[in-house]
Amino acid sequence: MTGTPLLAIEGLSCSHAGQPAVRGLGLSLQPGELGCLLGPSGCGKTTLLRAIAGFHAPDGGRLSLRGKDARALPPEKRGLGFVFQDLALFPHLTVADNVAFGLHGLARDLRRARVLETLSLIGLDGLADRYPHELSGGQQQRVALARSLAPRPDLLLLDEPFSSLDADLRGRLRDDLRAVLKRLGIAALLVTHDQEEAFAFADTVGVMQAGVLLQWAPGFELYHRPATPFVASFVGEGRFLEARVLDGNRVATALGDLPVAAALPYAVGSPVRVLLRPDDLMPSDDEGIECEVRAVAFRGAESLHTLVLGDGTALTALFPSHQQREPGQRVRVKPDLAHVVVFPAAD
Ligand code: ATP
Repeated sequence: MTGTPLLAIEGLSCSHAGQPAVRGLGLSLQPGELGCLLGPSGCGKTTLLRAIAGFHAPDGGRLSLRGKDARALPPEKRGLGFVFQDLALFPHLTVADNVAFGLHGLARDLRRARVLETLSLIGLDGLADRYPHELSGGQQQRVALARSLAPRPDLLLLDEPFSSLDADLRGRLRDDLRAVLKRLGIAALLVTHDQEEAFAFADTVGVMQAGVLLQWAPGFELYHRPATPFVASFVGEGRFLEARVLDGNRVATALGDLPVAAALPYAVGSPVRVLLRPDDLMPSDDEGIECEVRAVAFRGAESLHTLVLGDGTALTALFPSHQQREPGQRVRVKPDLAHVVVFPAAD
């Protein structure tokens, strides 16, 4: 059972100079829930975050925080924390003073204790008296996070906060932040371009396209049960295979008859297409469908093979790298999956 959402948005629309940027969007976040927005550049992620923060006035729709209408509240009355790509640390203030910035309401000794506790939580022990220019990029990013966490908001808005960091540092900071947020019970909404980051960080991931939220679901569900062909191709790798409806539970494909994820709303014989992920196909020595290896990308433990069926359909398959094939070789594959996801045939 879920209680009153911390954040509830319904039918929210935003525009810039008359051009729609967010269209009829709805989502909700429970206390302590970590959400993430994914989508191509320009799809409206930052605009949505700014509308939640109170920096952008929506054209219409509902936005409530802790069960109360928040649309008329100025940003400082919304009780939220923000971290944007541009860290905006104060260069003339120490780390401790940067982190204390939002703690005016606390008595001096409590403020110092909160600052030190927050620095410790985020992995900055011993750096309280340094200035921002005396820190690495990753440490500066941690200071920005500490500053937003210090007032203990119940919701943190994060707009690509790790994008300036290299992959290793980025992964560590993301995992540390997730652990701190979970420990403190703080909810967050993170905007990112990076799917791996979204899956690793969030409990719930949203995919946006042209201002519309197409799906809002746990990462596993987005990957295995994408709601639209756009979500299917945006999240993870995969190819579509033409198919025909056999009955409510099965489709016929060039790889054989495959079970479907949910009862099909299409008439028997209708043309449809199914999503095949690279991990849905396995190499098979004597049975299975023959295809030609078109390309191979070595990835360490696995190798991604692009395969072409007799009718020219291209599919991708991940084989353990010790079973890697060469381009031009013929290989037999068979599907290894619980079900396929079915979409209407392409126009
Ligand atoms: P990115 O991933 O590139 O940061 P985004 O998904 O965050 O993109 P937004 O920044 O919300 O997208 O932009 C959504 C749309 O609104 C885009 O078409 C963008 O050009 C437009 N837009 C954003 N900010 C402004 C602005 N201040 N004035 C005019 N148009 C804007």
